[in-house]
Amino acid sequence: MLSYQHIYHAGNLADVHKHSMLAWALDYMTAKDKPLSYLETHAGRGLYDLTDAAALKTGEAAQGIARADAWFSADHPYTQVLGRIRDKHGSDAYPGSPVIAAESLRPMDSITLSELHPQEFAALKQNMSPYGGVFKQMDGWEMALSMCPPEPRRGFLLIDPSFEVKSDYQTIPRTISQIHRKWGVGVIMLWYPILTGAPHEPMIGALQSALPEAVTHEVSFPPARDGHRMVGSGLFVVNPPYGFQQEAARISALFSSRAGSPM
Ligand code: SAM
Repeated sequence: MLSYQHIYHAGNLADVHKHSMLAWALDYMTAKDKPLSYLETHAGRGLYDLTDAAALKTGEAAQGIARADAWFSADHPYTQVLGRIRDKHGSDAYPGSPVIAAESLRPMDSITLSELHPQEFAALKQNMSPYGGVFKQMDGWEMALSMCPPEPRRGFLLIDPSFEVKSDYQTIPRTISQIHRKWGVGVIMLWYPILTGAPHEPMIGALQSALPEAVTHEVSFPPARDGHRMVGSGLFVVNPPYGFQQEAARISALFSSRAGSPM
């Protein structure tokens, strides 16, 4: 049984990394007048209330978006989405990746999300109701393998597992290679945690050998609390949009100059 719930971690510095790059990438891709397909394997509930007891308990948002808000310029796509969500839902609302995507996409684009956890899935459907889309309560890996290549073929797949299943580290390189073989033009973005002991390293080594043209981008930060094992966040991106590395360098500079300051 799955126990991970993203509300404990919503708005932490890993989310800031993943969501700022996602918002940037979709802003870039939607500037072109051609439809795109957005798919996400592990969607979560889409919208979070940072005053929820679970979010307050870990304090991760307080060490994350509460500090990082000031890092981004007013015209950054992440700032723009955060502003629209706070206008609609109040200053303590935080958008998950499905809402960031939905806020970035146009009527001509499509969105397909899978989420396995029954409560998270119910909340996802409700939070996404103003936007529409296709929602599947099924295994995200199966969804990606069965839906790719999507129509239209121009598109973006976010893979954001909770890494609760330890075998994910072994199976991810093979599954992403399989998806890429089926969908050569798709942008595929995998998020992974950087934990003490670096359990991600063999997985990233295997991904880089299988997909040498892909880009890896990692940022580091202090643990959100004593004993917390997460000390960084990584993205592995197949077919990165043009300009991805320049944006990644800007985000790296923000994290290295700001994230390490005392909490
Ligand atoms: N992508 C979300 C965001 O950035 O807002 C956060 C997703 S959270 C890290 C991972 C989610 O995957 C959890 O809600 C969990 O219930 C769900 N999950 C775990 N295993 C899954 C699977 N095999 N297929 C689909 N969803 C799964």
